[in-house]
Amino acid sequence: MKDGSILIIGIDGPAASGKSTVSRLVAEKLGYVYVDSGSLYRGMTWKAVREGVDVKNTDDMIQLRDRSNWEFFVENRVVRFTIDGEDPGSQIRSEAVRERVSDVAAIPEIREFIVSQLRDTARFGDLVMEGRDIGSVVFPEAQFKYYLDADPEERARRRHQELVSREEESDVNKVLNSLQRRDAKDSGRKTAPLQIPLGAEVINSTRMSIDEVVAHIVSEVVAKRN
Ligand code: C5P
Repeated sequence: MKDGSILIIGIDGPAASGKSTVSRLVAEKLGYVYVDSGSLYRGMTWKAVREGVDVKNTDDMIQLRDRSNWEFFVENRVVRFTIDGEDPGSQIRSEAVRERVSDVAAIPEIREFIVSQLRDTARFGDLVMEGRDIGSVVFPEAQFKYYLDADPEERARRRHQELVSREEESDVNKVLNSLQRRDAKDSGRKTAPLQIPLGAEVINSTRMSIDEVVAHIVSEVVAKRN
């Protein structure tokens, strides 16, 4: 920004709404750093699964948080992290993590820790951050806020295609059920539920291509940032 402060674009929305692809491309086009906030909740869940910690036991989860050491760094303009020196890599996308992550994200003490780590990434420069509570809690003062949505069937279709391409999941109804379960938990929790942040522009991408959504956001940012 002109005054030298950090510029933040927050992109929130439900599972498989296209946030990740859109956020990544917007960051690439603008030369900003990309942060996938969900990867931190998934990282914490991965650590719990790996150590055999019951994610529904809040005290055990808080202890796990307190004894693990997280380090953050930027690689190719993407914020990455290690936990106790290990990069969880693609294991954060495993079914074991996917099925537990919303329970982990519902624990206020875990959220508090992750929110503070996320705010701290502003030290890396202008950011595009995607998640569920970026415009509402993490950076309510973000200059640009978007809420990306799409019909559940379309989101399930997209996620199913992605899983098939990774040779993982073949039943689209199972994918739809899993997405809806996660959405219900994410929207229904007490702390920082999934919601449209105040002042966010809602983009329904059901009938839009990824490129159209990206072009729309980039043109708005370029027009307004100076
Ligand atoms: O975005 P992704 O699907 O990877 O997020 C995984 C989970 O992490 C979500 O279902 C949600 O429970 C949690 N999450 C969150 N707040 C965020 C980002 C993710 O609660 N800002």
